[in-house]
Amino acid sequence: MENKEIELIVNGKRLDGRGLHDLRPIKIKVGVLEDADGSASVEWGGNKVVAGVYGPRECIPRHMENPYKAIVKCQYMMSTFCSLEEHGRMGPNRRSVEISKVIRQALENVIMVELFPKSQIEVYAIVLQADGGTRISALTAAVAALMDAGIPLRDTVIGVSVGKAGDKLIADLGKMEDNFGQSDVPIAFTNRDKDIVLLQMDGLLTKDELSKIIDLAFRKGEDINQLQRKAIENKYGETVSKRLRIG
Ligand code: ADP
Repeated sequence: MENKEIELIVNGKRLDGRGLHDLRPIKIKVGVLEDADGSASVEWGGNKVVAGVYGPRECIPRHMENPYKAIVKCQYMMSTFCSLEEHGRMGPNRRSVEISKVIRQALENVIMVELFPKSQIEVYAIVLQADGGTRISALTAAVAALMDAGIPLRDTVIGVSVGKAGDKLIADLGKMEDNFGQSDVPIAFTNRDKDIVLLQMDGLLTKDELSKIIDLAFRKGEDINQLQRKAIENKYGETVSKRLRIG
Protein backbone atom coordinates (compact mmCIF):
# COMPACT_ATOMS: atom_id res chain seq x y z
CA MET A 1 0.00 0.00 0.00
CA GLU A 2 1.24 3.47 -0.82
CA ASN A 3 2.22 5.60 2.11
CA LYS A 4 -0.10 8.59 1.63
CA GLU A 5 2.17 10.92 3.56
CA ILE A 6 4.81 10.80 0.86
CA GLU A 7 3.70 12.22 -2.48
CA LEU A 8 5.86 10.37 -4.95
CA ILE A 9 4.46 12.02 -8.07
CA VAL A 10 3.56 15.70 -8.33
CA ASN A 11 2.31 17.16 -11.63
CA GLY A 12 3.56 14.17 -13.57
CA LYS A 13 7.08 14.52 -12.17
CA ARG A 14 8.83 12.20 -9.78
CA LEU A 15 10.84 13.14 -6.70
CA ASP A 16 14.06 13.41 -8.68
CA GLY A 17 12.39 15.37 -11.50
CA ARG A 18 12.08 12.44 -13.90
CA GLY A 19 9.06 11.86 -16.12
CA LEU A 20 7.03 8.68 -15.48
CA HIS A 21 8.92 6.51 -17.94
CA ASP A 22 12.41 8.03 -17.74
CA LEU A 23 15.37 5.92 -16.71
CA ARG A 24 18.01 7.23 -14.35
CA PRO A 25 21.46 7.83 -15.88
CA ILE A 26 23.23 4.48 -16.39
CA LYS A 27 26.96 3.91 -16.90
CA ILE A 28 28.37 0.46 -17.67
CA LYS A 29 32.10 -0.19 -17.81
CA VAL A 30 33.84 -3.53 -18.37
CA GLY A 31 37.29 -4.72 -17.33
CA VAL A 32 37.45 -2.92 -14.00
CA LEU A 33 39.24 -5.64 -11.96
CA GLU A 34 42.77 -6.89 -12.61
CA ASP A 35 42.55 -10.53 -11.64
CA ALA A 36 39.00 -11.55 -12.45
CA ASP A 37 38.39 -13.30 -15.79
CA GLY A 38 35.69 -10.74 -16.46
CA SER A 39 34.44 -7.71 -14.57
CA ALA A 40 32.18 -4.72 -14.84
CA SER A 41 30.97 -1.73 -12.90
CA VAL A 42 27.52 -0.27 -13.17
CA GLU A 43 26.37 3.11 -11.94
CA TRP A 44 22.63 3.29 -12.20
CA GLY A 45 21.22 6.44 -10.64
CA GLY A 46 22.58 6.27 -7.09
CA ASN A 47 23.39 2.54 -7.31
CA LYS A 48 27.03 1.55 -7.62
CA VAL A 49 27.79 -2.11 -8.24
CA VAL A 50 30.94 -4.01 -9.17
CA ALA A 51 30.78 -7.56 -10.56
CA GLY A 52 33.55 -10.08 -11.05
CA VAL A 53 33.42 -13.40 -12.91
CA TYR A 54 35.79 -16.33 -12.50
CA GLY A 55 35.79 -19.39 -14.70
CA PRO A 56 34.88 -21.64 -16.28
CA ARG A 57 37.25 -23.47 -13.95
CA GLU A 58 37.50 -26.66 -11.95
CA CYS A 59 34.44 -27.30 -9.84
CA ILE A 60 35.12 -27.23 -6.12
CA PRO A 61 33.93 -29.16 -4.17
CA ARG A 62 34.14 -32.01 -6.66
CA HIS A 63 30.88 -33.62 -5.62
CA MET A 64 29.03 -30.59 -6.98
CA GLU A 65 30.33 -31.00 -10.51
CA ASN A 66 27.98 -32.00 -13.30
CA PRO A 67 29.38 -34.26 -16.05
CA TYR A 68 27.18 -32.57 -18.66
CA LYS A 69 27.44 -28.86 -17.91
CA ALA A 70 29.05 -26.10 -15.88
CA ILE A 71 27.37 -25.08 -12.66
CA VAL A 72 26.81 -21.39 -12.05
CA LYS A 73 27.48 -19.95 -8.61
CA CYS A 74 26.31 -16.48 -7.82
CA GLN A 75 26.79 -14.23 -4.84
CA TYR A 76 25.10 -10.84 -4.46
CA MET A 77 26.24 -8.81 -1.48
CA MET A 78 25.58 -5.40 -0.06
CA SER A 79 28.49 -3.55 1.50
CA THR A 80 28.00 -2.39 5.07
CA PHE A 81 28.23 1.22 3.93
CA CYS A 82 25.88 1.01 0.92
CA SER A 83 23.04 3.00 2.43
CA LEU A 84 21.80 4.53 5.63
CA GLU A 85 19.94 1.39 6.70
CA GLU A 86 22.82 -1.01 6.45
CA HIS A 87 24.85 -1.33 9.61
CA GLY A 88 27.20 -3.89 10.99
CA ARG A 89 28.04 -7.28 9.62
CA MET A 90 28.52 -8.05 5.96
CA GLY A 91 27.64 -11.49 4.67
CA PRO A 92 24.75 -13.59 3.56
CA ASN A 93 21.30 -12.85 4.91
CA ARG A 94 17.83 -13.86 3.81
CA ARG A 95 17.54 -11.06 1.26
CA SER A 96 20.99 -11.54 -0.27
CA VAL A 97 20.49 -15.31 -0.54
CA GLU A 98 17.22 -14.72 -2.39
CA ILE A 99 18.73 -12.13 -4.73
CA SER A 100 21.78 -14.33 -5.44
CA LYS A 101 19.39 -17.14 -6.37
CA VAL A 102 17.21 -15.13 -8.75
CA ILE A 103 20.26 -13.62 -10.46
CA ARG A 104 21.78 -17.10 -10.84
CA GLN A 105 18.57 -18.48 -12.32
CA ALA A 106 18.39 -15.56 -14.78
CA LEU A 107 22.00 -16.16 -15.88
CA GLU A 108 21.58 -19.94 -16.19
CA ASN A 109 19.04 -19.28 -18.93
CA VAL A 110 21.62 -17.68 -21.20
CA ILE A 111 25.08 -19.02 -20.29
CA MET A 112 25.97 -21.94 -22.61
CA VAL A 113 26.75 -24.17 -19.65
CA GLU A 114 26.68 -27.34 -21.76
CA LEU A 115 29.98 -26.25 -23.35
CA PHE A 116 31.85 -26.58 -20.05
CA PRO A 117 31.12 -29.91 -18.38
CA LYS A 118 32.47 -30.54 -14.87
CA SER A 119 33.35 -26.90 -14.33
CA GLN A 120 32.01 -23.93 -12.43
CA ILE A 121 31.42 -20.32 -13.32
CA GLU A 122 31.46 -17.93 -10.38
CA VAL A 123 29.66 -14.61 -10.50
CA TYR A 124 30.07 -12.07 -7.70
CA ALA A 125 28.34 -8.72 -7.41
CA ILE A 126 28.82 -6.27 -4.62
CA VAL A 127 26.67 -3.21 -4.03
CA LEU A 128 28.81 -0.27 -2.96
CA GLN A 129 25.93 2.16 -2.91
CA ALA A 130 22.21 1.32 -2.94
CA ASP A 131 19.41 3.45 -4.28
CA GLY A 132 16.55 1.12 -5.25
CA GLY A 133 16.85 -1.55 -7.94
CA THR A 134 20.13 -3.06 -6.80
CA ARG A 135 19.23 -6.59 -7.96
CA ILE A 136 18.77 -5.27 -11.50
CA SER A 137 21.97 -3.19 -11.33
CA ALA A 138 23.82 -6.27 -10.03
CA LEU A 139 22.40 -8.47 -12.80
CA THR A 140 23.35 -5.84 -15.40
CA ALA A 141 26.91 -5.76 -14.04
CA ALA A 142 27.04 -9.58 -13.96
CA VAL A 143 25.98 -9.87 -17.61
CA ALA A 144 28.58 -7.30 -18.69
CA ALA A 145 31.24 -9.14 -16.64
CA LEU A 146 30.31 -12.46 -18.30
CA MET A 147 30.71 -10.85 -21.72
CA ASP A 148 34.03 -9.39 -20.62
CA ALA A 149 35.11 -12.89 -19.56
CA GLY A 150 34.24 -14.16 -23.05
CA ILE A 151 31.81 -16.72 -21.70
CA PRO A 152 29.42 -17.73 -24.48
CA LEU A 153 25.87 -16.51 -23.96
CA ARG A 154 22.85 -17.49 -26.01
CA ASP A 155 21.58 -13.93 -25.76
CA THR A 156 22.16 -10.91 -23.60
CA VAL A 157 19.96 -10.22 -20.58
CA ILE A 158 18.44 -6.83 -19.94
CA GLY A 159 16.86 -5.83 -16.67
CA VAL A 160 14.85 -2.90 -15.43
CA SER A 161 12.41 -2.43 -12.60
CA VAL A 162 8.98 -1.06 -13.33
CA GLY A 163 6.02 -0.49 -11.05
CA LYS A 164 3.36 1.84 -9.78
CA ALA A 165 3.44 4.90 -7.55
CA GLY A 166 0.96 7.74 -7.10
CA ASP A 167 -1.47 5.61 -9.19
CA LYS A 168 0.84 5.90 -12.21
CA LEU A 169 2.86 3.23 -13.98
CA ILE A 170 6.54 4.13 -13.84
CA ALA A 171 9.90 2.84 -15.05
CA ASP A 172 13.10 2.40 -13.06
CA LEU A 173 11.97 2.92 -9.49
CA GLY A 174 14.20 4.91 -7.18
CA LYS A 175 14.60 3.97 -3.54
CA MET A 176 11.63 6.00 -2.23
CA GLU A 177 9.37 4.67 -4.99
CA ASP A 178 10.56 1.16 -4.31
CA ASN A 179 10.05 1.43 -0.56
CA PHE A 180 6.86 3.52 -0.50
CA GLY A 181 5.20 3.04 -3.91
CA GLN A 182 2.22 0.79 -4.67
CA SER A 183 4.08 -1.86 -6.61
CA ASP A 184 7.62 -2.74 -7.60
CA VAL A 185 8.33 -5.27 -10.35
CA PRO A 186 11.96 -6.02 -11.24
CA ILE A 187 12.05 -7.73 -14.65
CA ALA A 188 14.88 -9.16 -16.74
CA PHE A 189 14.53 -10.60 -20.23
CA THR A 190 16.56 -11.73 -23.21
CA ASN A 191 17.20 -9.15 -25.88
CA ARG A 192 16.17 -11.00 -29.03
CA ASP A 193 13.22 -13.10 -27.95
CA LYS A 194 12.07 -11.15 -24.90
CA ASP A 195 11.98 -14.31 -22.81
CA ILE A 196 11.47 -13.27 -19.21
CA VAL A 197 14.21 -14.70 -17.00
CA LEU A 198 13.47 -12.78 -13.80
CA LEU A 199 10.20 -11.36 -12.56
CA GLN A 200 9.38 -10.51 -8.98
CA MET A 201 6.55 -8.44 -7.67
CA ASP A 202 5.85 -6.44 -4.55
CA GLY A 203 2.45 -4.82 -4.00
CA LEU A 204 -0.68 -5.05 -6.08
CA LEU A 205 -1.37 -4.54 -9.78
CA THR A 206 -4.26 -5.49 -12.03
CA LYS A 207 -3.63 -7.97 -14.84
CA ASP A 208 -3.91 -5.12 -17.33
CA GLU A 209 -1.40 -2.97 -15.40
CA LEU A 210 1.03 -5.86 -15.18
CA SER A 211 0.85 -6.43 -18.90
CA LYS A 212 1.37 -2.68 -19.52
CA ILE A 213 4.44 -2.46 -17.32
CA ILE A 214 5.98 -5.53 -18.93
CA ASP A 215 5.63 -3.77 -22.30
CA LEU A 216 7.11 -0.65 -20.73
CA ALA A 217 10.10 -2.70 -19.51
CA PHE A 218 10.61 -4.12 -23.02
CA ARG A 219 10.59 -0.61 -24.50
CA LYS A 220 13.06 0.69 -21.92
CA GLY A 221 15.26 -2.34 -22.59
CA GLU A 222 16.34 -0.87 -25.93
CA ASP A 223 18.24 1.93 -24.18
CA ILE A 224 19.92 -0.47 -21.76
CA ASN A 225 20.94 -2.75 -24.61
CA GLN A 226 22.69 0.16 -26.33
CA LEU A 227 24.64 0.92 -23.14
CA GLN A 228 25.76 -2.72 -22.81
CA ARG A 229 26.90 -2.61 -26.39
CA LYS A 230 28.80 0.63 -25.92
CA ALA A 231 30.60 -0.73 -22.84
CA ILE A 232 31.85 -3.73 -24.83
CA GLU A 233 32.75 -1.58 -27.84
CA ASN A 234 34.76 0.78 -25.65
CA LYS A 235 36.99 -2.11 -24.65
CA TYR A 236 36.91 -4.53 -27.58
CA GLY A 237 35.63 -2.59 -30.60
CA GLU A 238 32.57 -2.90 -32.79
CA THR A 239 33.32 -6.31 -34.28
CA VAL A 240 33.21 -7.99 -30.91
CA SER A 241 30.00 -6.29 -29.84
CA LYS A 242 28.41 -7.41 -33.12
CA ARG A 243 29.62 -10.95 -32.54
CA LEU A 244 28.06 -10.86 -29.09
CA ARG A 245 24.80 -9.88 -30.78
CA ILE A 246 23.99 -7.21 -28.27
CA GLY A 247 22.69 -4.67 -30.70
P1 ADP B 1 16.30 -3.80 -4.88
O1 ADP B 1 17.55 -3.07 -4.45
O2 ADP B 1 16.59 -4.85 -5.88
O3 ADP B 1 15.21 -2.84 -5.31
P2 ADP B 1 14.72 -4.20 -2.46
O4 ADP B 1 13.40 -3.93 -3.13
O5 ADP B 1 14.81 -5.29 -1.45
O6 ADP B 1 15.78 -4.58 -3.59
O7 ADP B 1 15.28 -2.90 -1.79
C1 ADP B 1 14.99 -1.61 -2.24
C2 ADP B 1 16.02 -0.63 -1.76
O8 ADP B 1 15.95 -0.53 -0.33
C3 ADP B 1 17.47 -1.04 -2.03
O9 ADP B 1 17.92 -0.73 -3.34
C4 ADP B 1 18.21 -0.26 -0.96
O10 ADP B 1 18.35 1.08 -1.36
C5 ADP B 1 17.27 -0.38 0.21
N1 ADP B 1 17.60 -1.56 1.02
C6 ADP B 1 16.88 -2.69 1.11
N2 ADP B 1 17.47 -3.57 1.95
C7 ADP B 1 18.59 -2.98 2.38
C8 ADP B 1 19.64 -3.37 3.26
N3 ADP B 1 19.66 -4.52 3.89
N4 ADP B 1 20.61 -2.51 3.44
C9 ADP B 1 20.63 -1.33 2.82
N5 ADP B 1 19.69 -0.89 1.99
C10 ADP B 1 18.69 -1.70 1.76
